[in-house]
Parts: sequence; structure tokens; C-alpha cells
Amino acid sequence: MTTLLDEIKATIALNGPMTVERYMELALGHPDHGYYMSRDPFGASGDFTTSPEISQMFGELIGLWAAEVWSSMGAPSPIHLVELGPGRGTLMSDALRAARIVPEFRAALDVRLVEMSPVLAAMQHELLLDAGVPIAWAQSLKEIPEGPAIVIGNEFLDALPIRQFVRVKGQWRERLVRVGNDGRLAFDVAPEPQPYIRGGAADGEILEVNPAGHRFMFELGARLVKQGGAALLIDYGHAATGFGDTLQALRAHRYVDPLAQPGECDLTAHVDFAAMSRSAAATGAAVYGPVDQGDFLRAIGVDLRTKALVERAGPERAQELQEARNRLVGKGKGEMGALFKAMAVANRSLPPPPGFHPPSVRPA
Ligand code: SAH
Repeated sequence: MTTLLDEIKATIALNGPMTVERYMELALGHPDHGYYMSRDPFGASGDFTTSPEISQMFGELIGLWAAEVWSSMGAPSPIHLVELGPGRGTLMSDALRAARIVPEFRAALDVRLVEMSPVLAAMQHELLLDAGVPIAWAQSLKEIPEGPAIVIGNEFLDALPIRQFVRVKGQWRERLVRVGNDGRLAFDVAPEPQPYIRGGAADGEILEVNPAGHRFMFELGARLVKQGGAALLIDYGHAATGFGDTLQALRAHRYVDPLAQPGECDLTAHVDFAAMSRSAAATGAAVYGPVDQGDFLRAIGVDLRTKALVERAGPERAQELQEARNRLVGKGKGEMGALFKAMAVANRSLPPPPGFHPPSVRPA
């Protein structure tokens, strides 16, 4: 039994069942026992792997994407290059290396990493020590100084705590976590209905809302409208709002019960891109996508990049590089090209960012 599980049970015994949102917040971000706060969760020996950890190409292409966006902004100096939830720092390290081919961009860079975990911030610091550009850390977007910014986030939105509502006898009720008779955590629903949620559904359906995601998209959109810049957000999720329980827990690359080991496994929810777009668009920012990760990476040159790396690394690494490319781009089972999606938010004065078509969402 984990300390966090004990603490959550004690809290429930004292205050009654807690919301899924509060549970997720504690499981991921509890200052001592939260999942991200105490460990390095990535890679083969960890619990899950992410695109930048699969291949250097991912971060390199995003670095070149950022350089091109910067140039379309009129090459402002300094430019804040912000990464949200940088994990091990791999994406930024690959991006900064690739950006060497645009020296004026590198010279203008002021890198800001938004990271809540002291353990991961220390790893990022170690990896990026010799990057040759100024780097500072922040806890939230609010702390980043004013000025034009290019913002990157891979698997950031999926880690924000969600609320869930269950349709019970024609009414929406918030999904809660309680302690069951067997002493384990179990799901429950609140006794009182939520009168403010519009729209119905069949009994038993689950509706997910990401309040922190909405707050973040508002803040991001407003900043880009006022101070200039663009953002690229990549995550797994769906393009249209729907029903269903997407809360999932991963441990050692396997799905586990999300209530069994809080703080010991990664807890995420699929991103509702339509909902996130609405919040960003409401600020007057242009919103692009989402497009499938595979299409996005192909549009920004993943195949040329693969070819160049194969040529440089030699035939013995060709298969490995091709496999990594397929995992990121392919749309089959076990591949990330369709499950993951990319979305951009930008100041309206800018052309569509590389990899995106003209805006799909216009403000009302
Ligand atoms: N982008 C990385 C890591 C993704 S995991 C990659 O692709 O490999 C999620 C990351 O977001 C972790 O670094 C985690 O510590 C951070 N994170 C989660 N919630 C956060 C929040 N509310 N504020 C800042 N960072 C957060």
C-alpha cells in the first residue's frame, strides 16, 4: 500500500468522497507522493514512452517548425521559446540542436521550461546544461515574462486533471471516488445532479470536462493575441467532443486500474481537441487543426529527415530509424500517427504555421 493511497483514504474518511478531478490532481501532483513529483516515468524501463523518446527526429522537426514560425513573425529578438511539461528535456535538446542551422533564431532564443516536478526539472537542467542558450524554469505560463512567444507542449494537456459526469436517470452527476466495503477505492456518483450541464445522453454515459485545460487555453490564446506568437500542442485524443470514460493508468507499459495505485502509475485522459479549440478561439486567436500526428510530421518533412539520418548513420541503423519513423507516423495498431493529434494556436497576423491548413475554427 502506498502512502498516497493511505492519505487519500484518510481524506475521504474525513471529508467524504472526492471528485475524480481532485483524485487525479493528487495522484499526479501531490507534493511528496505525486507520480510526476517523485520519479522519471519515461523510456523502456519506465511506465510509458513518448514521441521525443522514440526518436530524435520528433524534437528536431519541432525545432525547425519553431524556427520557421519565428521567421514568419518577422524574426523578433528576444523570442521566448516555451515548453510545457518537458519530461526529460529530450524534445528541447533535439530542437535546439536542429535549430543550429538557423543561427539568428538560436541567437534570439530565451528558453522557458514550464515544469511542476522538481525531479524532472533537475533532469532537464542536466541535459540542457550545454545547450548554449539561456534557459529558465517556471511553474506556469503566467510566470513567463511578456513578449512574443513560441509555445510547445507534447503530452501536456492529457496530464491535467479532468472532471467526469455520469448520466444517471436522465441527470448528470459528478463521478466521485470513495472507499468501498472491501477497503479499496471505488467509483461513486454524487447524490445531487448538475443542473448546469446542457445536453442529454443515455443512462450510464460519461462526460469528461477538463477545467484546467480550458483555463490554460484561455490564458494561452489571450497571451498570443496580445503579445504575439504561436503554440503547438500535440496529444492523444479525439477531434470531436463525445461521451466515454478515457481515464487511464499505465504502469510498466501496461494498463492498470486507475484507482489501485495512486502516485505509482501514470494517470491521463484523452484530450477533447474540439473543447480545447473553443476556449482558445474565444480569445480571438486563430486555431488550426487538429490534424493527425502522422500527417503533421509528414507535412513538416519527417521522410526527408529519416532519409538524411539513414544516409549519415549508415545501413546498419536504417531499419531502426525506419521503424521509429513508422511508429510516429503510421496509423496502424500500436502506432501513434492517428491516435495522436497536433493543434496550433496563433496570433491572427501570422500565416498558418507549417503543417497546418487555414483556420478550421473561427470566433463567433
Ligand atoms: N513532454 C514530455 C513529457 C510528457 S509527460 C514528453 O513528451 O516526453 C507530462 C509532463 O508534464 C511532465 O514533465 C510533467 O511533470 C509535466 N506536468 C504535468 N502537469 C503539469 C502542470 N500542471 N504544470 C507543469 N507541468 C506539468
